[in-house]
Amino acid sequence: MKPKYTPIRTCTGCREEYPKRELVRVVHGLDGSIGVDPTGKQNGRGAYVCRSPECWEKALHGGSLARALKAPISVEDRAGLEMAREQAFATEKLTKGPK
Ligand SMILES: [Zn+2]
Repeated sequence: MKPKYTPIRTCTGCREEYPKRELVRVVHGLDGSIGVDPTGKQNGRGAYVCRSPECWEKALHGGSLARALKAPISVEDRAGLEMAREQAFATEKLTKGPK
């Protein structure tokens, strides 16, 4: 039996490959908005970033995320993404934490 197929995506920061669910999807929506997509199903051009804060730093400030999304990332977008990222990880801790 083959192991179950896991989608692999590349982190925009470190260029390492990870299982998709280990990454946070950032989506450039059809309406032009930029945000974190917790469902992974939102329409638009997506890019993935792993959990490492350095990767977010690199992706957001080094321009690789903007390139991947083919969209300029404004100061507001950046602030929104950093907040959403913190929330995404905080929620995950809650759902995955011990009962
Ligand atoms: Zn990374």
